Amino acid sequence: MPATQIERARNGEVTPAMERLAARENHEPEFVRREVAEGRAVIPNNHAHDSLDPMVIGRAFATKVNANIGNSETTSGVEEELEKLHAAVHYGADTVMDLSTGGKLDTTREANVAHSPVPIGTVPIYEAVKRAESADAITHELLLDVIEKQAEQGVDYMTIHAGILMEHLPLTDGRKTGIVSRGGSILAEWMEENGMQNPLYTKFEAICEILAEHDVTASLGDGLRPGCLADASDEAQFAELDTLGELTGTARERGVQVMVEGPGHVPLDEITENVERQQAVCDGAPFYVLGPLVTDVAPGYDHITSAIGATEAARAGAAMLCYVTPKEHLGLPDADDVRDGLAAYRIAAHAADVANGRPGARDWDDALSEARYEFDWRRQFELALDPDRARSYHDQTLPEDNYKEARFCSMCGAEFCSMRIDQDARDADGEMSSITESEGTDLDASAAASANRPPVGTHDTSRVPDRTEVDGVAFPSEAPGDDD
Ligand code: SF4
Repeated sequence: MPATQIERARNGEVTPAMERLAARENHEPEFVRREVAEGRAVIPNNHAHDSLDPMVIGRAFATKVNANIGNSETTSGVEEELEKLHAAVHYGADTVMDLSTGGKLDTTREANVAHSPVPIGTVPIYEAVKRAESADAITHELLLDVIEKQAEQGVDYMTIHAGILMEHLPLTDGRKTGIVSRGGSILAEWMEENGMQNPLYTKFEAICEILAEHDVTASLGDGLRPGCLADASDEAQFAELDTLGELTGTARERGVQVMVEGPGHVPLDEITENVERQQAVCDGAPFYVLGPLVTDVAPGYDHITSAIGATEAARAGAAMLCYVTPKEHLGLPDADDVRDGLAAYRIAAHAADVANGRPGARDWDDALSEARYEFDWRRQFELALDPDRARSYHDQTLPEDNYKEARFCSMCGAEFCSMRIDQDARDADGEMSSITESEGTDLDASAAASANRPPVGTHDTSRVPDRTEVDGVAFPSEAPGDDD
């Protein structure tokens, strides 16, 4: 049986995945090995996922972003799911969670794994409910069967809501919004109906055996995460976190890579404390957060409310951010929503990486700023986080080709362009040469800068449909956010 990345790291082995990640992240391979061995980083990399370009999740590395896709009872087909997958990767997702609950679950999952250059995550309890036809009818055997089958299919990480326990449920009674995690609510119903402890908790060791066999990373779900500011940092949330800390130790002892999921909705001033608490309770295991949203008053703009929280969380040490779209709490996101959500989260991740001094992170900013000051509009578009949007906004007022070399844009106009005025003044004083003759930023010499710049340059997207095939497709059908 092939060992897991954490087992091999503990044995002192630098695996090919670790070599690859060292190049992508501007670190020494030995550094990557040590972070994985200590459990501070994970490399979701199922042995059966042949198309994967390995990536690493850990606070010592560039902040990662996850996008949720998936079908429902009413939508959609396998081809459409592959288009969503490609679009998510194109707009910069580092991992993709398949939250499908309808249609041909196995076919969709297998197609996603076969075509994805990024790790695929799932929430097995969804399929268990579907097969049992109701939450309370799920059996221990069925749960293990679903997890084993998904592991065999090549899923790289699984959300396992093993931390929500019977004794935690009364702690949610005074909440404003109760239990908002879909997995958490399913398991709470199961425990209440069956009068037994969470089966994911009681069977956790058996689950670890399956995960270790295939090197599936455990993503310990936060079934009791707060669904509003008033419920943040409450007794229920932290009681579950303590259990997640215990389970982190259990998983590591059994050679399973593990990360921990987190809230949700948290006031800005409580986010750092939340991250530090998770890091202490879970012994530095990577923290994978949803947002968090820092205010509840802006439905329609929750990609912004949550990206603010996500930036703060990443700054404080969260390793991966699950994106939120403008449709959060309101409806199914369409293609534009997914694009906006991913853009917001790439900004959050990158802003935190710059502030945290990640190797090479600011090279991208410097290169774009140089192009901006040089009025090199084409280079600006090329370097922009969303090149198509930057170009189209410029074209709205100055579409002609000659304006792509103009020393102004329509924002201030030719007469009042401050950069043009500044350059003319420096020219007159003979000072411009100190700027124009200085060496520019060489992004090609910065592996981290080019690897982490969306559209993500190093993912092998040759196995997924051409980008033109995604235009106009509505996705994903499953609302990301308070549903996993
Ligand atoms: S016109 Fe204003 S916004 Fe446009 S390039 Fe000049 S300074 Fe920048």
